[in-house]
Amino acid sequence: MSSPSGPTTTKALAAVPRVDEATERGEILRRYRGLLRSVKGQRSAEDTRLIRKAFNIAVEAHKDQRRKSGEPYIYHPIAVARICAEEIGLGTTSVVAALLHDTVEDTDITLDDVKDLFGPTVTTIIDGLTKISGLQFGTDSIQAENFRKVLLTLAQDVRVILVKLADRLHNMRTLDHQPRDKQLKIASETLYLYAPLAHRLGLYNIKSELEDHALRFKEPETYAEISQKLKKGEAVRKRFISRFILPIKQALDREEFTYEVKGRPKSVHSIYNKMLKKHVTFEEVYDVFAIRVIIDTKQELEKADCWKVYSIVTDFYQPNPDRLRDWISLPKANGYESLHTTVMSPGGRWVEVQIRSRRMDEIAEMGLAAHYKYKDDSENASALDAWLNQIRDVLEDTSSNAVDFVNDFKLNLFSDEITVFTPKGEMRNLPVGSTALDFAFHIHSQVGRQCIGAKVNHKLVALSHTLRSGDQIEVITSKKQQPKEDWLGFVKTAKAKHRIKQALRDQKKKLAVVGREAMQRQLRKWGAKVDATNINALIERYGSRSAMDLYYQIARGKHVLEDITDATVRNGRLQLPKLKRPIDERTLEEVVAEIRGATPGALLIGDDLQKIDYQLSSCCNPIAGDDVFGFITLSEGIKIHRVNCPNAVQLMSNFAYSIVKARWKGKETVEFLAGITFSGIDDVGLVNKITNIISHEHNVNMRSISFESHDGIFEGKVMAYVHDTDHLRSLIEKLKRVRGVRSVERVDR
Ligand code: MN
Repeated sequence: MSSPSGPTTTKALAAVPRVDEATERGEILRRYRGLLRSVKGQRSAEDTRLIRKAFNIAVEAHKDQRRKSGEPYIYHPIAVARICAEEIGLGTTSVVAALLHDTVEDTDITLDDVKDLFGPTVTTIIDGLTKISGLQFGTDSIQAENFRKVLLTLAQDVRVILVKLADRLHNMRTLDHQPRDKQLKIASETLYLYAPLAHRLGLYNIKSELEDHALRFKEPETYAEISQKLKKGEAVRKRFISRFILPIKQALDREEFTYEVKGRPKSVHSIYNKMLKKHVTFEEVYDVFAIRVIIDTKQELEKADCWKVYSIVTDFYQPNPDRLRDWISLPKANGYESLHTTVMSPGGRWVEVQIRSRRMDEIAEMGLAAHYKYKDDSENASALDAWLNQIRDVLEDTSSNAVDFVNDFKLNLFSDEITVFTPKGEMRNLPVGSTALDFAFHIHSQVGRQCIGAKVNHKLVALSHTLRSGDQIEVITSKKQQPKEDWLGFVKTAKAKHRIKQALRDQKKKLAVVGREAMQRQLRKWGAKVDATNINALIERYGSRSAMDLYYQIARGKHVLEDITDATVRNGRLQLPKLKRPIDERTLEEVVAEIRGATPGALLIGDDLQKIDYQLSSCCNPIAGDDVFGFITLSEGIKIHRVNCPNAVQLMSNFAYSIVKARWKGKETVEFLAGITFSGIDDVGLVNKITNIISHEHNVNMRSISFESHDGIFEGKVMAYVHDTDHLRSLIEKLKRVRGVRSVERVDR
């Protein structure tokens, strides 16, 4: 029997040429010993005994099977086990499970046998693996359903997925021997499902290799072309990199760092992807070289040392201020930590420099899952657990169809993330574009359902407010609140979408019952029969989409049957003349007047303004204490500008009727985003000093920071949260006192 998990399985292939049995046995043993060597850490005598036992059972069970290539089948489980140990860093349990992974499905061995021989943990993993591969991938919806099951197994033991990924990787490496149609099917599945999963689990190397193999089969010509170009450029690239890193190495030596510098070749698939997405040529993608500086340092010094290296790198090369990424302060949800910057080389070529510690590098390459299993690092374990919980939540709801589910889920799988904080300072990761309401649902479904608004960085915002990294969010709830249809228009996360749809369905069903009863009463009152014909007459009258819709609108009071004055009834038959639709069209002026009516006199801006939808405009970033005015917009409520905003003159002269007076009320705990630029003489450690002042000494939240330096002069810009103008002024004064800093100024954006 062949299966999707063991696509290269085939029994008793007659065409296989007879190889010398002794040679083959020798080769099997050689591979087995290679596997044993690859099991890292301290392998106890008990570990060795278990692995040998699993190996012996697998050899015996698969003894009559061969792969499509003609090789003994046992090569495959040995290779999978070795990937688990060597490339994912898993331990004995996973190695044992990997050795046995195809036995229950393809041989006479049963799950009970495995349980007797190896206990419950190994059995759970093999059971999960067998279930995944027992499923047939076919139409979209079946594929989606399988995807869901794959993720469900994740919830039991994450090692199921890790071993499965190792299995898939080996199958991709040996896919050449399969017929073309199978190659395509397996390659597509890999791109659709396994590569994103590997990515989500932080298995960078495995993800890239899976993608490269998939591309090799899906688009052989493109693959060949790109990899050929890569090979051609290799020598040039190496020469360039070694020249580029020379001064950095010398400086690192002077500072007595223990480090490793690597040039990182890009994967074929990632180049292909960029070419497609950004419509650029190979050369344009390839032009961006990447190097990685890995330092050996104590965990408590990691962050400071990485920034020191950053400072050294930017001493020699000018960084692109838009490309500084600090994933050390805010790691990605899959555990990735690193400091990235892109700098300009003397030849005019951009080079991405990744700076990280040995520990961070290990997580980046092998994945958080493996790392935490291996190192028993409880902090990382909780990040993974949080992710698993999130998946479990969505999975447990079976009301949506599988295709919807996958689309929602894939959205989350692929999108980038932002990191936000609860009022207590707990970190939460959400997809980019998430709103305050997404956050509420992320906290708890109940909190989401009852959410009426939120305070983001202490400022009141609407449910639909889009969150940004670093935001601190306090959800405001009311017991009277119920999920609304339009919420679906702005939530981003699968969980929120899901819960809202569910609540709406429930609400609608409940209301429909009430509405139906009301309709029945009115029909009887008119002396009309309660039957389909009469109900249809009402449906037509209101233009409802369905009977359900009609009942619902009646219950909501949108259709009031009692108000129908032109109804006639003959022989129980309801007659209703056609109705003209009422049109709701207010003029612009009426809307403006309405908004203005809500704010007599000057608009008070402060955190107790529960009713007024206002925003601080991003063109001048007003903060408390600034001289401000409000500008009424139709789509975004009232926008607050500084009176000296560059746009103010134009706004005031052309749209005077939309201007409202505004002033600040109190300054309590409100925080505002303000921009500060500074320049001065470049100095090692200056970045550190400035960030320290801003984030520690002044207890200010930094949103972003960028530095640029050339010819010994640096320029920098910081966006930070401050309480008011006094707060900002004292911060500026402090920064001015830093040695090397020449000027510090507030900027509008
Ligand atoms: Mn397999």
